[in-house]
Amino acid sequence: MDLYTRGENAFLKAYGRYDILLEKGEGVYLYDTNGKKYLDFYSGIGVNSLGHGYPPYVKALQKQIETLMHVSNYFYTPVSIEAAEAVKKATQLDAVFFCNSGAEATEGALKLARKYYYLKHGKADSEIISFHHSFHGRSTGSVKLTGNPHYQEAFGPLIEGVQYATLNDLQSVEALLNERTCAIIVEPLQGEGGLNPCQQDFLKGLRQLCDQHDICLILDEVQCGMGRTGTIMTYFQYDILPDIVCLAKGIGCGVPVGAFVANKKFAAAMQPGDHGSTYGGNPLVCAAVKTVFDIIEKENLLDHVQKMSQYLLKRLDELVNEFDIIQEHRGLGLMQGLVFDQDVKPIVKALLDDGVIVVTAGTNVLRMLPPFIINEANIDEFIDKLKKILKNYK
Ligand SMILES: *Cc1c(COP(=O)(O)O)cnc(C)c1O
Repeated sequence: MDLYTRGENAFLKAYGRYDILLEKGEGVYLYDTNGKKYLDFYSGIGVNSLGHGYPPYVKALQKQIETLMHVSNYFYTPVSIEAAEAVKKATQLDAVFFCNSGAEATEGALKLARKYYYLKHGKADSEIISFHHSFHGRSTGSVKLTGNPHYQEAFGPLIEGVQYATLNDLQSVEALLNERTCAIIVEPLQGEGGLNPCQQDFLKGLRQLCDQHDICLILDEVQCGMGRTGTIMTYFQYDILPDIVCLAKGIGCGVPVGAFVANKKFAAAMQPGDHGSTYGGNPLVCAAVKTVFDIIEKENLLDHVQKMSQYLLKRLDELVNEFDIIQEHRGLGLMQGLVFDQDVKPIVKALLDDGVIVVTAGTNVLRMLPPFIINEANIDEFIDKLKKILKNYK
C-alpha cells in the first residue's frame, strides 16, 4: 500500500489533505517524498517564521533535549524563566502563562477575564463580545469565540454568553455592551477570516470602551503576532496595549507552544489552582521561545520583514493591475491576502503542482505567510509562477 493510502487508513478524516507527502525542509524550501522541491510561502500556517532547519535554532533545541525536556509546572526552570522574561519584554505586559496551542491561549484568556469579573461581581454570569469572521481555535470554548457558524453547528451546546459584533464598526460593539460584558476579543488582523485589518480608530476605540467600562481587551495575535506584520506585536502599530494578548504559531517556530500574557490588573485575578497545563511551557518549548526572540533581535529580522513586505506589496500591486480576477491585496507585513472574484482553491492547487505552497482564507482569498527569511528572488519566484497560472484565467 502506498504511504498516502496508509495515511488515509490511519487518520481520523478531520482534514482535507493534499496527496503529496512532505519529508524534509531546508531554509524556505520543502521537499516531498519524490524529491520535488516546494517554495514555502505559508510557513506551516504562520508557524515556521525562521524557515526550516535554521542552524542556531536547531542547535539550541538539540542542547535543551540533552539537558532537560520536561519537569511539569511544580517547578520553574532557568530556561522557562528566560522565556517568560523575553515574552514580557516583547509584549510590554506583566505575567505569562504558557500553554500548547492557540486555542488554549484564547481559552485561558477567557477564563482570566471571567475570573476578574467574578471577583468584582461575585457571580459567574459574564458575557464576551467577539466578531464575525474571527478565528480563535477549535476547542468548545474557543470555537464559540470564533464568529463562524459553520465551525460550531454540530458541536453544541457550547459555552454561553458570547455575542458577535462587526469588525471596524464601533457602534455594533456599543450595541452589545452591557453590565455583564467582561471582555472583548479581537484579532488586530483577522487571519482565517480573510486578512481583514482593524482600522486605527476602531482598535483605539475598543481600548477606550474597555477602559471606560472596566472590561478586558483581549487581542488574539496567535497569527499576526511575533513579528509577522513587521513589529513584534501588531498592536504596537496601533499605539495601544491590550489587557491580555494571546500568542502561539510563530512563538515557537515549530514546537507546540502558546501563551497568554496579562497586565498587572488582570494578572492579579489568577490564584494558584485556577488554571493549569501539564506540558505548558516545558523546558523544550521554552528553549525554542527564548531562542526565537534572541534570533529575531540579533538578526534584525523585523527590519527584514518590513523590507521584504514592501517588495512583496510592490509585486502584488502589479498582479492586481494586470489581472481582472484579482480585486485587491490586503494585510500587514508578511501576512497578506490576494482577494479574487472567485474560488481560489484551483489556483492554490495549480501553485502546489508548480512547486509553491500557499493557503486560502475563506473561499476567495489566497493567503501568503512566507518565512521571515525570504529574499527578493524567492518573492520573484512566487510572483512569476502565480502569473503563469493566472494567464490561463484571463
Ligand atoms: C490558528 C489560530 C488560533 C488557534 O490556534 P491553534 O494552535 O490551532 O489552536 C487562534 N487564533 C488565531 C488568530 C489563529 O490564527
